[in-house]
Amino acid sequence: MKIVKLKKDNLFPFLEAIKGDAELWAPVKKDDAKHTFQPVDDFSQIDLDYTRTILPPRKILLPAKFNMYQASKSEFTSDFSHISKKIIFGIHPCDIHAFLTMDKFYSYEIEDPYWLEARKNLVLLGHSCWPDENCMCKSTNTHVVEEGYDLFFTDLEDTYVVWIGSSRGDDLIREKPELFEEDLTDTDIQKFIQRRENRDKAFTTEINFAAMPDLMELKYNDALWEKLGDACLACGSCTNVCPTCNCYNVEDRPVLGKDFSNIQRCWDACTLENYSGVAGGENFREKRADRLKLWYTHKLQSYISKYGKPACVGCGRCVATCPVDINVKTVAQSLDGNEVDSFWDRLSKEVTK
Ligand code: SF4
Ligand code: SF4
Repeated sequence: MKIVKLKKDNLFPFLEAIKGDAELWAPVKKDDAKHTFQPVDDFSQIDLDYTRTILPPRKILLPAKFNMYQASKSEFTSDFSHISKKIIFGIHPCDIHAFLTMDKFYSYEIEDPYWLEARKNLVLLGHSCWPDENCMCKSTNTHVVEEGYDLFFTDLEDTYVVWIGSSRGDDLIREKPELFEEDLTDTDIQKFIQRRENRDKAFTTEINFAAMPDLMELKYNDALWEKLGDACLACGSCTNVCPTCNCYNVEDRPVLGKDFSNIQRCWDACTLENYSGVAGGENFREKRADRLKLWYTHKLQSYISKYGKPACVGCGRCVATCPVDINVKTVAQSLDGNEVDSFWDRLSKEVTK
């Protein structure tokens, strides 16, 4: 792997040089001080001083709603019109790992052409980050990346150390080689090592993910799930913000005056009641406790059996989002026998209100 150096003043000229006709998405700070990935033409809008965006970057590849195909009585035509060349700049290691997880999921047995086509058209430019109290990526070993990006920028105050992760990344550097320096000094290397050590020490949340598959099995009928189900609002927010969630619904939208329908794909959530509804009015997971158990089985158990790692990449979005504090951190701690008293106190107040 090749490593080069870029002065921070040269970042915007570099982005300008590589953008071409692609849409560049980057983190932008909203009025409420939260961050979101948005398409940016004016690079001064980019704010790299963020921990996590509200929605994960999978929204850029698979929007909340898009046409999959048009169907008439006799034929159907696939619709890839929402896919175009895109660059994501400023994506953090946990979200890059989430893309790698989705790659596996969407090419396992039956390929998802919409994800795979969008991926082909995507350039990923990663950026280093600093953890807050909700980050669990060190526990999931997704706090560093060795693959899955084209370039990765590590912030060393006035310069970036830029890791080249693909031949496409190498081509991007060659667009403006004069902006880069090839040789890292001993001081650069020392700064990089020091930053990594300091960052490792900054993680304050540790979750024993390795123990989760066994604990999920052992506690499948634990009263924990009923308590959580009683408190859960079934709002679906945890699912919408999780970078590895992939449930969707398919809707048939007839077009007035035409002999075809648009077949739309829209985000869905297994934490919502209607998701498990079937013809005849039956529902396999009517109870919120059962739906939560399914969600956590996916995150903490079944992906580990199938893909060798949890579906959770430790981004902390469910921790920052669930209005009643049901999230990977509190659930994993409870499964591990480390119930957070204040969490359960508050939960019981919510339930008895
Ligand atoms: S389960 Fe929570 S912490 Fe884990 S990847 Fe999903 S949103 Fe992030
Ligand atoms: S666990 Fe929290 S975020 Fe998820 S559906 Fe229940 S209340 Fe909403």
